[in-house]
Amino acid sequence: MVINTISQTKIPSDLRRVHRSLVMRRLFSSENVSRAELAEESNLSAMAITRIVRELLEVGLIEEIGKRDRKGAPGRRRTNLQINSSGSFVVGLVISAFGHEVALMDANGMPLLNRRISFDNILNAEQTIDSASDVIIDLINQAHIDTGRILGIGIAIAGFVQSSTGNLLRAPYLGWHEIELGRHISARTGLPVIAENIADAINLAEQATAKHDINGDLFLVHASVTCGGSFTHQGSLVRGANHSAGYIGHLPAGPSQLICSCGASDCLNAHASGWSVLANLALLDSHTFRTDRIEMYADTLTALLAKNPDTTTPEGKELYKAGIQLGRGLRNVALIIDPEAIVLAGKMANSTAYVAGCRSAWHETSPRQLQKVPELIIGATASLTAAGFLALDKFLLSPGLNIDALHSPESTINEVQIT
Ligand SMILES: [Zn+2]
Repeated sequence: MVINTISQTKIPSDLRRVHRSLVMRRLFSSENVSRAELAEESNLSAMAITRIVRELLEVGLIEEIGKRDRKGAPGRRRTNLQINSSGSFVVGLVISAFGHEVALMDANGMPLLNRRISFDNILNAEQTIDSASDVIIDLINQAHIDTGRILGIGIAIAGFVQSSTGNLLRAPYLGWHEIELGRHISARTGLPVIAENIADAINLAEQATAKHDINGDLFLVHASVTCGGSFTHQGSLVRGANHSAGYIGHLPAGPSQLICSCGASDCLNAHASGWSVLANLALLDSHTFRTDRIEMYADTLTALLAKNPDTTTPEGKELYKAGIQLGRGLRNVALIIDPEAIVLAGKMANSTAYVAGCRSAWHETSPRQLQKVPELIIGATASLTAAGFLALDKFLLSPGLNIDALHSPESTINEVQIT
């Protein structure tokens, strides 16, 4: 994996990087912020903010916008700041059974170009990675942007990932074993890579970009072909000894006629997942989960959810029933980890019937033992958006941002002092 490198003579202190990151994150979370507001909220001196803002303006990562009169105060007017959307770019890549998507995004996470990728054989990890890398390069070439401003690639994958290295530990539903995913794609594209499990990527993005205000611990259910999940404690991912913390698909949920991928028949996957709905509707020819059929499961589920069947139909009834099972399962989750909120995400969250079933069960069974019952929120972040956010978070908004690698744009910077 390529890591941002900085010449020894220009290394700023770690603290300065942290302060710069604070400013970038504040500007990312809301546009139109003044220098004085930055100083006040970050507890940094006006001089420090002035210096950080000047650096960021000089390399074009942020820009000044409009002028605002200071109400009731004579003298100077303020110039506010925002992230310069064309000051940097990232690539988002999703690898899942539902197909693969790649997007080139601006510094605010808005897609400039995107493409769906089809592979001959998803089970062939090397071939999939090579094809995805080629599409990324092709997309970059099409975009006619300053390639020196593409900071990195964020990957959201249906598998368990060691994010610090980008190594995929295992992706049982893709049939992939351990592979240096990050290193391979970085070597092919020349860009640094950050990779996370899809549920983890969506969890991080939900907290940073969604409208709801969640500051405490959050549990995210990723209900799709199977039931995945992700848990964050004070904004940081809880990974677990096997990098599978939060995965709720194998929680015991009572006997069923189906056999989960793990061989058990009492898993939540056998009651509340997209696969269980398809099997119970007799849309599959086996009651046993087969990993080699994962793409067929995904396609069949996509077709079912596209109709968004209501609860008067057999399909809608089955989705509602599965939603109820998930809602009950969430009770156990809430009792164990006591989150501030639970977010329902994934393809199944697009089903009105499934969501209604989940809400109904949550309303009836949510743990009264908890003084404050966690709020159940329907997620709004797509996996591709989450993949792009991973890259923005790692390469633009973190202390790892390498501004020395960015040349100054030609535009003249008019420095404004805090008054
Ligand atoms: Zn299982």
